[in-house]
Amino acid sequence: MSRLIRAVIDGAALRHNVEVIRARVPGARVMAVVKANAYGHGLVQTALALAGVDAFAVARLEEGVRLRERGVRAPIVLLEGVFTREQLREASRFELELVVHDQLQVELLAAEPDTHRQALWVKIDTGMNRLGFRPEAFPAAHERLRSLRPSPREIRLMTHLAAADEADGRMTRAQLERFAAATRGIPGERSIANSAGIFGTVPVGGQWVRPGLALYGASPLPQRTAAELGLRPAMRLETSVIAVRHVPRGETVGYGAAWRAERDARIAIVAAGYGDGVPRSLPNGTPVLLAGRRVPLVGRVSMDMIAVDVSALDAVGVGTPVELWGEQLPVEEVARAAGTIAYELLCGVSERVPLELA
Ligand SMILES: *Cc1c(COP(=O)(O)O)cnc(C)c1O
Repeated sequence: MSRLIRAVIDGAALRHNVEVIRARVPGARVMAVVKANAYGHGLVQTALALAGVDAFAVARLEEGVRLRERGVRAPIVLLEGVFTREQLREASRFELELVVHDQLQVELLAAEPDTHRQALWVKIDTGMNRLGFRPEAFPAAHERLRSLRPSPREIRLMTHLAAADEADGRMTRAQLERFAAATRGIPGERSIANSAGIFGTVPVGGQWVRPGLALYGASPLPQRTAAELGLRPAMRLETSVIAVRHVPRGETVGYGAAWRAERDARIAIVAAGYGDGVPRSLPNGTPVLLAGRRVPLVGRVSMDMIAVDVSALDAVGVGTPVELWGEQLPVEEVARAAGTIAYELLCGVSERVPLELA
Protein backbone atom coordinates (compact mmCIF):
# COMPACT_ATOMS: atom_id res chain seq x y z
CA MET A 1 0.00 0.00 0.00
CA SER A 2 1.54 3.30 -1.03
CA ARG A 3 1.52 6.20 1.41
CA LEU A 4 -0.11 9.30 0.09
CA ILE A 5 1.20 12.76 0.64
CA ARG A 6 1.91 13.98 4.13
CA ALA A 7 4.14 16.51 5.82
CA VAL A 8 6.25 15.00 8.56
CA ILE A 9 7.18 17.60 11.15
CA ASP A 10 10.33 16.96 13.14
CA GLY A 11 9.89 18.35 16.66
CA ALA A 12 13.54 17.66 17.50
CA ALA A 13 14.64 19.73 14.50
CA LEU A 14 12.45 22.63 15.68
CA ARG A 15 14.07 22.51 19.11
CA HIS A 16 17.53 22.12 17.61
CA ASN A 17 16.96 25.25 15.52
CA VAL A 18 15.95 27.23 18.62
CA GLU A 19 19.25 26.23 20.21
CA VAL A 20 21.18 27.28 17.09
CA ILE A 21 19.40 30.65 17.24
CA ARG A 22 20.11 31.03 20.96
CA ALA A 23 23.79 30.31 20.34
CA ARG A 24 23.88 32.94 17.60
CA VAL A 25 22.38 35.70 19.81
CA PRO A 26 23.46 34.82 23.36
CA GLY A 27 21.25 36.30 26.02
CA ALA A 28 18.46 37.36 23.68
CA ARG A 29 14.99 36.05 24.36
CA VAL A 30 13.33 34.14 21.55
CA MET A 31 9.86 35.01 20.32
CA ALA A 32 8.99 32.12 18.01
CA VAL A 33 6.95 33.35 15.07
CA VAL A 34 4.17 30.81 14.41
CA LYS A 35 1.87 32.83 12.15
CA ALA A 36 0.35 31.27 9.03
CA ASN A 37 -0.16 27.92 10.73
CA ALA A 38 3.46 27.98 11.87
CA TYR A 39 4.65 28.41 8.29
CA GLY A 40 2.62 25.36 7.34
CA HIS A 41 3.97 23.18 10.17
CA GLY A 42 0.76 23.24 12.24
CA LEU A 43 0.16 26.08 14.71
CA VAL A 44 -0.64 24.14 17.85
CA GLN A 45 1.69 21.18 17.45
CA THR A 46 4.57 23.50 16.60
CA ALA A 47 3.93 25.70 19.61
CA LEU A 48 3.71 22.64 21.85
CA ALA A 49 6.95 21.27 20.38
CA LEU A 50 8.62 24.63 21.04
CA ALA A 51 7.46 24.86 24.64
CA GLY A 52 10.86 26.17 25.80
CA VAL A 53 10.80 29.47 23.92
CA ASP A 54 10.23 32.79 25.71
CA ALA A 55 7.16 33.88 23.71
CA PHE A 56 5.19 33.20 20.56
CA ALA A 57 4.16 35.65 17.86
CA VAL A 58 1.16 35.37 15.57
CA ALA A 59 -0.34 37.67 12.97
CA ARG A 60 -4.03 37.29 13.77
CA LEU A 61 -6.15 37.31 16.89
CA GLU A 62 -7.71 33.92 16.08
CA GLU A 63 -4.26 32.30 16.08
CA GLY A 64 -3.49 33.66 19.53
CA VAL A 65 -6.85 32.55 20.89
CA ARG A 66 -6.36 29.09 19.48
CA LEU A 67 -3.00 28.73 21.19
CA ARG A 68 -4.51 29.79 24.52
CA GLU A 69 -7.44 27.40 24.08
CA ARG A 70 -4.97 24.59 23.52
CA GLY A 71 -3.19 25.38 26.73
CA VAL A 72 -0.25 27.52 25.65
CA ARG A 73 0.66 29.68 28.67
CA ALA A 74 3.71 31.51 27.32
CA PRO A 75 3.42 35.17 26.29
CA ILE A 76 1.81 35.54 22.86
CA VAL A 77 2.34 38.67 20.77
CA LEU A 78 -0.16 39.81 18.15
CA LEU A 79 2.14 41.23 15.47
CA GLU A 80 -0.54 43.34 13.82
CA GLY A 81 -2.32 44.28 17.02
CA VAL A 82 -6.08 44.77 17.04
CA PHE A 83 -8.41 47.01 15.08
CA THR A 84 -11.73 47.07 16.96
CA ARG A 85 -12.93 47.28 20.56
CA GLU A 86 -14.22 43.72 20.38
CA GLN A 87 -10.83 42.46 19.25
CA LEU A 88 -9.11 44.48 21.95
CA ARG A 89 -11.33 43.01 24.65
CA GLU A 90 -10.83 39.50 23.34
CA ALA A 91 -7.06 39.96 23.17
CA SER A 92 -7.13 41.20 26.73
CA ARG A 93 -9.31 38.31 27.89
CA PHE A 94 -6.85 35.82 26.40
CA GLU A 95 -3.87 37.76 27.78
CA LEU A 96 -2.28 38.48 24.42
CA GLU A 97 0.41 41.13 24.06
CA LEU A 98 -0.31 43.74 21.42
CA VAL A 99 1.83 45.42 18.85
CA VAL A 100 0.74 49.05 18.59
CA HIS A 101 1.67 50.44 15.21
CA ASP A 102 -0.99 53.04 14.53
CA GLN A 103 -2.67 55.97 16.24
CA LEU A 104 -6.04 54.24 15.92
CA GLN A 105 -4.76 51.49 18.19
CA VAL A 106 -3.55 54.01 20.75
CA GLU A 107 -7.02 55.55 20.84
CA LEU A 108 -8.63 52.13 21.20
CA LEU A 109 -6.46 51.43 24.22
CA ALA A 110 -7.28 54.83 25.69
CA ALA A 111 -10.98 54.11 25.29
CA GLU A 112 -10.73 50.70 27.00
CA PRO A 113 -8.83 51.32 30.21
CA ASP A 114 -9.02 47.80 31.49
CA THR A 115 -7.18 46.26 28.55
CA HIS A 116 -3.49 47.11 29.05
CA ARG A 117 -2.54 44.43 31.49
CA GLN A 118 -0.07 42.76 29.11
CA ALA A 119 3.10 44.26 27.68
CA LEU A 120 2.61 46.55 24.69
CA TRP A 121 5.04 46.60 21.79
CA VAL A 122 5.25 49.96 20.03
CA LYS A 123 6.37 49.51 16.47
CA ILE A 124 8.49 52.11 14.75
CA ASP A 125 8.73 52.22 10.99
CA THR A 126 12.41 52.63 10.18
CA GLY A 127 12.16 52.06 6.45
CA MET A 128 9.94 49.07 5.74
CA ASN A 129 6.98 51.40 5.15
CA ARG A 130 4.45 48.79 6.05
CA LEU A 131 3.45 49.09 9.70
CA GLY A 132 4.65 51.36 12.47
CA PHE A 133 4.92 54.95 13.65
CA ARG A 134 7.27 57.06 11.65
CA PRO A 135 10.21 58.13 13.81
CA GLU A 136 8.91 61.70 14.09
CA ALA A 137 5.47 60.51 15.25
CA PHE A 138 6.82 57.92 17.67
CA PRO A 139 7.61 60.10 20.73
CA ALA A 140 4.06 61.45 20.96
CA ALA A 141 2.54 58.00 20.54
CA HIS A 142 4.87 56.59 23.16
CA GLU A 143 4.07 59.39 25.58
CA ARG A 144 0.36 58.87 25.11
CA LEU A 145 0.73 55.14 25.83
CA ARG A 146 2.78 55.92 28.93
CA SER A 147 0.08 58.22 30.20
CA LEU A 148 -2.72 55.65 29.87
CA ARG A 149 -4.44 54.95 33.18
CA PRO A 150 -4.05 52.41 34.56
CA SER A 151 -0.52 52.41 33.14
CA PRO A 152 0.41 49.61 30.79
CA ARG A 153 2.46 46.97 32.54
CA GLU A 154 5.39 47.47 30.22
CA ILE A 155 6.05 49.27 26.95
CA ARG A 156 8.56 47.68 24.62
CA LEU A 157 9.99 48.94 21.34
CA MET A 158 10.28 47.15 18.05
CA THR A 159 10.97 47.61 14.37
CA HIS A 160 11.15 45.30 11.38
CA LEU A 161 14.03 44.97 8.92
CA ALA A 162 13.35 45.20 5.21
CA ALA A 163 16.55 43.78 3.73
CA ALA A 164 18.49 41.93 6.42
CA ASP A 165 19.14 39.14 3.94
CA GLU A 166 21.29 41.40 1.78
CA ALA A 167 24.99 40.83 2.22
CA ASP A 168 26.07 44.47 2.08
CA GLY A 169 23.93 45.44 5.11
CA ARG A 170 23.40 49.05 4.01
CA MET A 171 19.64 49.13 4.46
CA THR A 172 19.91 47.35 7.81
CA ARG A 173 22.49 49.81 9.12
CA ALA A 174 20.31 52.73 8.04
CA GLN A 175 17.30 51.20 9.81
CA LEU A 176 19.32 50.55 12.98
CA GLU A 177 20.47 54.18 13.00
CA ARG A 178 16.92 55.44 12.65
CA PHE A 179 15.74 53.10 15.40
CA ALA A 180 18.51 54.15 17.76
CA ALA A 181 17.86 57.83 17.09
CA ALA A 182 14.10 57.53 17.57
CA THR A 183 14.34 55.54 20.81
CA ARG A 184 17.37 57.18 22.43
CA GLY A 185 16.81 57.61 26.15
CA ILE A 186 13.52 55.77 26.13
CA PRO A 187 13.45 52.79 28.47
CA GLY A 188 12.05 49.41 27.48
CA GLU A 189 13.12 46.16 25.93
CA ARG A 190 13.79 46.18 22.20
CA SER A 191 13.19 43.73 19.38
CA ILE A 192 14.56 44.14 15.87
CA ALA A 193 15.75 40.88 14.32
CA ASN A 194 13.81 38.44 12.18
CA SER A 195 15.65 35.32 10.97
CA ALA A 196 17.77 37.23 8.47
CA GLY A 197 18.58 39.79 11.16
CA ILE A 198 19.77 36.99 13.44
CA PHE A 199 22.03 35.35 10.86
CA GLY A 200 22.87 38.33 8.65
CA THR A 201 26.11 40.27 8.34
CA VAL A 202 25.12 43.19 10.60
CA PRO A 203 24.64 42.47 14.32
CA VAL A 204 21.31 44.08 15.15
CA GLY A 205 21.03 43.70 18.95
CA GLY A 206 17.91 43.93 21.08
CA GLN A 207 16.70 41.92 24.07
CA TRP A 208 14.30 39.91 21.90
CA VAL A 209 14.64 38.21 18.51
CA ARG A 210 11.73 37.13 16.34
CA PRO A 211 12.73 34.14 14.20
CA GLY A 212 10.26 32.54 11.85
CA LEU A 213 11.84 30.86 8.84
CA ALA A 214 15.03 29.81 10.65
CA LEU A 215 13.01 27.95 13.28
CA TYR A 216 11.68 25.77 10.52
CA GLY A 217 15.17 25.04 9.29
CA ALA A 218 15.28 27.06 6.08
CA SER A 219 18.01 29.58 5.41
CA PRO A 220 16.95 33.24 5.49
CA LEU A 221 20.04 34.23 3.52
CA PRO A 222 20.27 33.68 -0.25
CA GLN A 223 24.02 33.15 -0.14
CA ARG A 224 24.07 30.61 2.73
CA THR A 225 22.43 27.20 2.98
CA ALA A 226 20.55 26.09 6.07
CA ALA A 227 23.14 23.38 6.62
CA GLU A 228 25.91 26.00 6.63
CA LEU A 229 24.02 27.86 9.34
CA GLY A 230 23.56 24.65 11.33
CA LEU A 231 19.79 24.60 10.81
CA ARG A 232 17.80 21.41 10.22
CA PRO A 233 14.67 21.33 8.04
CA ALA A 234 11.65 20.66 10.23
CA MET A 235 9.31 19.60 7.43
CA ARG A 236 9.59 16.68 5.06
CA LEU A 237 6.90 16.72 2.41
CA GLU A 238 6.69 13.12 1.33
CA THR A 239 4.51 10.94 -0.84
CA SER A 240 4.97 7.98 -3.14
CA VAL A 241 4.83 6.69 -6.68
CA ILE A 242 1.35 5.60 -7.79
CA ALA A 243 2.16 4.39 -11.34
CA VAL A 244 5.13 3.74 -13.59
CA ARG A 245 4.87 3.79 -17.37
CA HIS A 246 6.94 3.46 -20.46
CA VAL A 247 6.79 6.55 -22.69
CA PRO A 248 8.10 5.95 -26.22
CA ARG A 249 10.40 8.49 -27.81
CA GLY A 250 8.48 11.41 -29.30
CA GLU A 251 5.45 11.17 -27.01
CA THR A 252 4.57 13.83 -24.47
CA VAL A 253 3.64 13.79 -20.80
CA GLY A 254 0.87 15.72 -19.08
CA TYR A 255 -1.22 18.83 -19.74
CA GLY A 256 -0.16 21.08 -22.53
CA ALA A 257 2.18 18.37 -23.81
CA ALA A 258 4.86 20.46 -22.12
CA TRP A 259 7.51 17.72 -22.09
CA ARG A 260 8.44 15.38 -24.91
CA ALA A 261 10.51 12.21 -24.54
CA GLU A 262 13.73 12.57 -26.56
CA ARG A 263 14.32 8.84 -26.13
CA ASP A 264 12.25 5.99 -24.74
CA ALA A 265 11.68 6.90 -21.11
CA ARG A 266 10.41 5.42 -17.89
CA ILE A 267 8.12 7.86 -16.12
CA ALA A 268 6.90 7.61 -12.55
CA ILE A 269 3.63 9.28 -11.60
CA VAL A 270 3.78 10.71 -8.09
CA ALA A 271 0.82 11.58 -5.82
CA ALA A 272 1.44 15.30 -5.26
CA GLY A 273 0.19 18.32 -7.13
CA TYR A 274 -0.75 21.95 -6.82
CA GLY A 275 -3.80 20.83 -4.84
CA ASP A 276 -1.28 19.92 -2.14
CA GLY A 277 0.78 23.07 -2.48
CA VAL A 278 3.37 21.89 -5.01
CA PRO A 279 3.63 25.01 -7.18
CA ARG A 280 2.45 24.71 -10.74
CA SER A 281 5.29 27.01 -11.74
CA LEU A 282 7.91 24.28 -11.21
CA PRO A 283 9.66 23.78 -14.54
CA ASN A 284 10.87 20.63 -16.27
CA GLY A 285 14.01 19.42 -14.54
CA THR A 286 13.14 20.52 -11.01
CA PRO A 287 14.71 17.93 -8.69
CA VAL A 288 12.47 15.43 -6.90
CA LEU A 289 13.87 12.81 -4.55
CA LEU A 290 12.87 9.21 -5.33
CA ALA A 291 14.19 6.48 -3.08
CA GLY A 292 16.90 8.93 -2.05
CA ARG A 293 17.99 9.81 -5.62
CA ARG A 294 17.38 13.08 -7.45
CA VAL A 295 15.32 12.75 -10.60
CA PRO A 296 13.88 15.48 -12.83
CA LEU A 297 10.27 16.61 -12.89
CA VAL A 298 8.80 16.34 -16.39
CA GLY A 299 5.74 18.09 -17.75
CA ARG A 300 3.32 20.33 -15.92
CA VAL A 301 2.40 19.92 -12.29
CA SER A 302 -1.26 18.81 -12.19
CA MET A 303 -3.68 19.19 -9.31
CA ASP A 304 -3.02 15.75 -7.83
CA MET A 305 0.00 14.42 -9.68
CA ILE A 306 3.44 15.13 -11.00
CA ALA A 307 5.56 13.05 -13.37
CA VAL A 308 9.28 12.38 -12.99
CA ASP A 309 11.74 10.75 -15.35
CA VAL A 310 13.09 7.62 -13.66
CA SER A 311 14.84 6.17 -16.70
CA ALA A 312 18.12 6.31 -14.78
CA LEU A 313 16.80 4.38 -11.77
CA ASP A 314 16.38 0.62 -11.49
CA ALA A 315 13.89 -0.35 -8.90
CA VAL A 316 11.02 2.09 -9.05
CA GLY A 317 7.47 0.88 -8.61
CA VAL A 318 4.17 1.72 -7.06
CA GLY A 319 4.92 2.70 -3.48
CA THR A 320 8.47 3.94 -4.00
CA PRO A 321 8.89 6.78 -1.49
CA VAL A 322 9.24 10.34 -2.75
CA GLU A 323 10.50 13.45 -0.98
CA LEU A 324 9.37 16.77 -2.45
CA TRP A 325 11.39 18.73 0.07
CA GLY A 326 13.02 17.99 3.40
CA GLU A 327 16.40 17.06 4.85
CA GLN A 328 17.79 15.77 1.58
CA LEU A 329 16.23 18.31 -0.76
CA PRO A 330 16.08 21.78 0.81
CA VAL A 331 12.82 23.64 0.32
CA GLU A 332 14.90 26.71 -0.60
CA GLU A 333 16.14 24.86 -3.68
CA VAL A 334 12.65 23.87 -4.81
CA ALA A 335 11.46 27.42 -4.15
CA ARG A 336 14.22 28.82 -6.34
CA ALA A 337 13.15 26.51 -9.15
CA ALA A 338 9.58 27.77 -8.76
CA GLY A 339 10.71 31.40 -8.84
CA THR A 340 9.62 31.98 -5.26
CA ILE A 341 10.87 31.75 -1.67
CA ALA A 342 10.78 28.98 0.91
CA TYR A 343 8.23 30.92 2.96
CA GLU A 344 5.62 30.63 0.23
CA LEU A 345 6.10 26.90 -0.30
CA LEU A 346 5.98 26.11 3.42
CA CYS A 347 2.87 28.26 4.04
CA GLY A 348 1.29 26.89 0.88
CA VAL A 349 1.07 23.26 1.96
CA SER A 350 -2.66 22.77 1.61
CA GLU A 351 -5.24 21.59 4.06
CA ARG A 352 -5.62 18.14 2.55
CA VAL A 353 -2.02 17.30 3.47
CA PRO A 354 -1.90 15.67 6.90
CA LEU A 355 0.73 17.16 9.23
CA GLU A 356 2.31 14.43 11.31
CA LEU A 357 4.58 15.23 14.20
CA ALA A 358 7.50 12.82 14.28
C1 LIG B 1 6.91 37.25 10.02
C2 LIG B 1 7.64 38.17 10.94
C3 LIG B 1 8.84 37.78 11.54
C4 LIG B 1 9.55 36.49 11.21
O1 LIG B 1 10.23 36.65 9.98
P1 LIG B 1 11.22 35.53 9.41
O2 LIG B 1 11.81 36.17 8.23
O3 LIG B 1 10.37 34.36 9.06
O4 LIG B 1 12.17 35.21 10.48
C5 LIG B 1 9.41 38.65 12.46
N1 LIG B 1 8.84 39.83 12.76
C6 LIG B 1 7.70 40.25 12.18
C7 LIG B 1 7.13 41.56 12.53
C8 LIG B 1 7.07 39.44 11.24
O5 LIG B 1 5.94 39.86 10.65
